[in-house]
Amino acid sequence: MSAIDFAALDAAGLNLQAVFDLADLPAEVRAQLDPAGAYRRLILIGHGGRTLWARVQAARLPSGDPIDDFTRATVAAWLSAQLPGVAHALVYPGDGPVGLQALGRLAGWHHDTPFRVGINAAWGSWFAYRAVLLVAADPPPTPAMAGESPCTACAGQPCVAACPADALRGPEFSLAKCIAYRRQPDSRCRVTCVARTRCPVRPEHRYDDAQIAHSYMRSLAMIERWG
Ligand code: SF4
Ligand code: SF4
Repeated sequence: MSAIDFAALDAAGLNLQAVFDLADLPAEVRAQLDPAGAYRRLILIGHGGRTLWARVQAARLPSGDPIDDFTRATVAAWLSAQLPGVAHALVYPGDGPVGLQALGRLAGWHHDTPFRVGINAAWGSWFAYRAVLLVAADPPPTPAMAGESPCTACAGQPCVAACPADALRGPEFSLAKCIAYRRQPDSRCRVTCVARTRCPVRPEHRYDDAQIAHSYMRSLAMIERWG
């Protein structure tokens, strides 16, 4: 079949898309996501930059999880227009585990940063995974995003020095130091990651403060819930 049209997703801010042939993915990914072998393509959908947040705000959904609910509705409408009647499964957002960063690496979206969030040359660290869809159809797979990790040529690594918990100085990211610092009442990282905001790559795509706060409030709530 011919390529599918992602314009409606682009307009909604779901402007990162990658199509994989499930047969080309690692066996453990197939076994986890499609154990019955019912589907032929995996479509990874993400957002880069500020557009999605603007669309979600405009939609004013009465939801405690407006980004996921907006994504579900937008992807469902797009899918029914592009692949009407095709069997499909939305595996993310969902309850089962999905290796989003592993898929992001395969798509060329994710390169490791010292602060654990992924980075790429097109969007800096200002992108995220929004949906993973399996379809029983054969749209052509897409090429991986090109470009080296911006961290490779980063002079001085300002993110490392900016972390107030010194969580990035060791050979590996210290999640324990990061969490302990974030939980402090006077922490500068309760609703942001100071290190991430100091990264100089693609500042034009940086989320606005409300979007950053929304994201980090959710992660802090999870930290508080699980101790
Ligand atoms: S500041 Fe440099 S090392 Fe840190 S994430 Fe950005 S590009 Fe990578
Ligand atoms: S959230 Fe704060 S403590 Fe954690 S890595 Fe980012 S800057 Fe460091």
